[in-house]
Amino acid sequence: MNGKWFVIGLLIGVLILAACMPATVPASSREQNTPISVVATTSIVGDVVRQVGGNLVSVTVLLPTGSDPHSYQPAPQDVAKISEATLVFANGAGLEEFLQNLIENAGATDRLVKVSEGIELKDFGANADEHENGDPHTWVDPNNVMIWVENIRSSLNQIDPTNANTYQANAAHYLTELKELDTWIRNQVDQIPPENRKLVTDHMVFGYFADRYGFEQIGAVIPGYSTLASPSAQDIVAIEDAIQNFGVKAIFVGKTINPTIAQRIAEDTGVKLVFLYHGSLSEASGPAASYLDYMRYNVTEIVNALK
Ligand SMILES: [Zn+2]
Repeated sequence: MNGKWFVIGLLIGVLILAACMPATVPASSREQNTPISVVATTSIVGDVVRQVGGNLVSVTVLLPTGSDPHSYQPAPQDVAKISEATLVFANGAGLEEFLQNLIENAGATDRLVKVSEGIELKDFGANADEHENGDPHTWVDPNNVMIWVENIRSSLNQIDPTNANTYQANAAHYLTELKELDTWIRNQVDQIPPENRKLVTDHMVFGYFADRYGFEQIGAVIPGYSTLASPSAQDIVAIEDAIQNFGVKAIFVGKTINPTIAQRIAEDTGVKLVFLYHGSLSEASGPAASYLDYMRYNVTEIVNALK
């Protein structure tokens, strides 16, 4: 009998204790342990935000891996994702054409952070009517991503000043890695004879890379802004002539863009067709799952094709 009452008493005691447990965790520390929920448009922006935010942010990337930011059609749930986010990080500079309506519909105008803000945009050249505000593909030069890092750090700092030191330390660490990447790219490019440093691509994404590391962008298979546009017969003749006149060694195309026309031009001119990552990282198990790996992958492919 005594044993039975003891067990019941023990159970009551455990239940009371269990009921009290949540109250013993102060509300403020629970909030501090909850990561700040943010949205990033592309996987490249998302990776850099994760580097600066570390465990303190939870990043939702809007565009599925492998999708093209130029032609992305927002999904119905994107408005909800943006509505719930504390901050929305975008490349900006006119890359994400879909963003304006989405941000307005989600009432998130004051929570939008354009990471390319402050980068002096390069003229988009002959295609200026397409990316009319300048070249938005800022990330192909790690020195531009250093500006992203500072924009991301200062915006996180503003909404979460308690953790300013952590954001500062994460940013400093990642800036060191970006500087190392820049040095590594210079050393890799040194293997390419100067006369071979000519780029023909499907879309003119490598402008900042070309300027930084001494390449010339000869032309693009798809001259327009939309990576879904088709070149005319004259466009194809013009680019094939340029490839032959300039002694171009390879055509570099994005892995996510239909390569049919580039394939035809490569066959006509007898040059190599090389696939690179453009507007998106690879899947987590792929060779370009982070921004640093994305750059190393692309540079290695370019060097191997042109050296
Ligand atoms: Zn573009």
